[in-house]
Amino acid sequence: TKQYDYVIVGAGLFGATFAYQARKAGKKCLVIDKRAHIGGNIYCKDVDGINVHYYGAHIFHTNDRSIWNFVNSFVEFNRYTNSPLANHEGKLYNLPFNMNTFYQLWGVTTPEEAQARIQQQIAELNITEPRNLEEQALKLVGTDIYEKLIKGYTEKQWGRKATELPAFIIKRLPVRFTYDNNYFNDKYQGIPVGGFNKLSEGLLEGIEVRLDTDFFGDPEYFRGLGEKLVYTGALDEYYNYRFGALEYRSLRFEHKHLEIENYQGNAVVNYTEAHIPYTRIIEHKHFEFGTQKHTVITYEYPATWEKGMEPYYPLNDEMNNKRFKQYSNLAEEEENVIFGGRLAEYRYYDMHQVIGSALVKARDELQLPRLENRA
Ligand code: FAD
Repeated sequence: TKQYDYVIVGAGLFGATFAYQARKAGKKCLVIDKRAHIGGNIYCKDVDGINVHYYGAHIFHTNDRSIWNFVNSFVEFNRYTNSPLANHEGKLYNLPFNMNTFYQLWGVTTPEEAQARIQQQIAELNITEPRNLEEQALKLVGTDIYEKLIKGYTEKQWGRKATELPAFIIKRLPVRFTYDNNYFNDKYQGIPVGGFNKLSEGLLEGIEVRLDTDFFGDPEYFRGLGEKLVYTGALDEYYNYRFGALEYRSLRFEHKHLEIENYQGNAVVNYTEAHIPYTRIIEHKHFEFGTQKHTVITYEYPATWEKGMEPYYPLNDEMNNKRFKQYSNLAEEEENVIFGGRLAEYRYYDMHQVIGSALVKARDELQLPRLENRA
């Protein structure tokens, strides 16, 4: 028999959730990660007592009570509600688009006036078959919201003109006719008290973890250590890119420590003008209602992904999805390997979704009972 029941590649939310369930079922696990820390992309770095969201701002939200209860069993969550602001030419607008935004744009105060304004703008444009993202967005929300709050931001994010982006990227643009700045519609939302590392630490408590350890340093050795392998790294890398690399959009972060107490008064401020190179500024302390003397802000720059950079957002276009299918056909043939998480499945997952997916895979694998209270 092997030394471990499961060798788990990746100490992110998928790997950690799977490991937790396996350990609870009496299995012996080894978790390895090539990074110097656990948590994967939810990792926070302590800078002067502030939890800096090192790989991008993370807010936990879900409609699923069983998943909410699950994460709360490791750490208490605070009442943080995501309510980002948009800065356009120095003026601030509330997001998501709601009555506050419409008041700021046009001075209208009733839902009826706001609806009339949007409908009038859409009618004047007379777009029937949107040929690109710009026309699609205009057809959904009219000129003002598009020009001030969508166009520049979207062009920066994708690195292309809105007229050169396909219309299907935007299917809906939620507009709300209430004075409600809560970005998410989910029932449960918050940030772990003490930061996201508390969640990762809770999941991995009592489990052997080896950091700075790349599976591809010696794949045969790691495979040989366990009865089964749980792999949460990139699927194309697992197969040595034999069908070509799967493409991503990436991000570049510039963290700044400022010797002032409060820089922008909100955790998230988007910059919607095309000529400002970053898309957002994050002020981390506000996720936890921090009262520290100083503050840390992060500029988020969209970037074209190249090999060696952090892969952030999968580019799920036709070419890449086809390529992914070739890889996942191979993966399905594997006998003792379980693939999971955002990299192995080449899809954008929110945290609650990746936890949900790991719980389901662990349940099937370990033959555990179903979680109760699914909403
Ligand atoms: P990861 O966290 O990426 O973990 C995979 C781990 O595997 C990594 O630690 C990696 O180092 C390791 N690994 C890979 N290859 C190897 C190898 N060869 N050897 C050893 N280790 C390896 N979700 C929300 O719910 N709310 C949000 O507000 C939110 N904001 C986000 C913002 C950004 C910018 C991004 C990119 C994502 C955001 N998410 C958010 C999504 C969230 O980050 C993911 O759902 C979650 O982190 C995915 O967990 P994972 O385990 O699948 O992957």
